[in-house]
Amino acid sequence: MEIISGVHVLKSSFVNLYLILEGDAITLIDTGMPKAGAKLVLETLQNLGRKPSDLKRILITHADPDHTGSVQALKSATGATVYASRHDGEKMALGLPGRNAKGLVGVLTKYLMPAAAPQSADVFLEDGQELAVLGGLKAIFTPGHTPGHVSYFSPSKKILFAGDSLNTMGGKLQFMTGPFTDDFVAGQNSVRIQAALGAEVVCCGHGAPMQGALKFPF
Ligand SMILES: [Zn+2]
Repeated sequence: MEIISGVHVLKSSFVNLYLILEGDAITLIDTGMPKAGAKLVLETLQNLGRKPSDLKRILITHADPDHTGSVQALKSATGATVYASRHDGEKMALGLPGRNAKGLVGVLTKYLMPAAAPQSADVFLEDGQELAVLGGLKAIFTPGHTPGHVSYFSPSKKILFAGDSLNTMGGKLQFMTGPFTDDFVAGQNSVRIQAALGAEVVCCGHGAPMQGALKFPF
């Protein structure tokens, strides 16, 4: 489904991936679970009449297996360059989730993560770094869900890719709590930074993209 011109949401079971088509260069935000994510992305490229090698960049929001599970498979199939924060990038290269294991969720995440390891990033992003996507896509560090969580925002298109710093599973912008959050205070602060961006479209890892009158939880 196309959200705004050139930006498609791909739903791989419970997680969303985003494909941005601009001229010859295609950018993917997050990769989905091992195997299933890569299969969906490659099939979608084929359906759109594009070659695997047209995928030039993979932008990672954070090191959880539902977002990084197909990094290695897609890197091999496409030759794309993988971007992540240093913190989560180093964790995923070790086959570890970005967050320290907490409770059952932590244990499950730790168990799932090595399934497709190693998942290495090629470029460690700086906070505020601008990428040549959607008229200038800014990497905005939004720690909380994981310490190295990154959101991506295009000021010209007013679209925010928020990863799991927010979700829309309840039909509104909401914040993950409990074992899904590494640092609650940092996460709240990250949402305040996001709320000040002036986004008109918010795309999360879980739940449908939202646009229009957006109400941030903090
Ligand atoms: Zn997730």
